[in-house]
Amino acid sequence: MKQDKSTLHIDKREPSFYRLRAARAFVKDALLIDLQTAEEVPGPDYASIDLGHQHVHHSIARFINHSCDPTAYVDAKAKKIVAVKPIKRGDEITFNYLISERQIVAPFDCNCGTSNCVRRVKKILAVEQSHDV
Ligand SMILES: [Zn+2]
Repeated sequence: MKQDKSTLHIDKREPSFYRLRAARAFVKDALLIDLQTAEEVPGPDYASIDLGHQHVHHSIARFINHSCDPTAYVDAKAKKIVAVKPIKRGDEITFNYLISERQIVAPFDCNCGTSNCVRRVKKILAVEQSHDV
């Protein structure tokens, strides 16, 4: 997936908090990362991406941080990460884990700083309700 390497870069300026950034501008709906060849893993973990019927690891997508006002989203059906708005060179690529993931296995505090920030990113998989009353 050569397009990933030339158009995105991993910002390692903060040693404990890597960020994926755009190395060029993208229009809304542009393909950022193709997840077709991403490695399937048995279940969700802190780095996996939920595609509905499977969880995958991707060498570059694993650096995408959560934001409550993200620049991208996971199109699970098409197995793609797509720009949700126009992205400028240098902008961080983010998606909203609470939308894309059915379960947050490693809850964390969000510091995205956006006005609609949820502060705590946490989601437990809904347990199927028993029909016994
Ligand atoms: Zn937030």
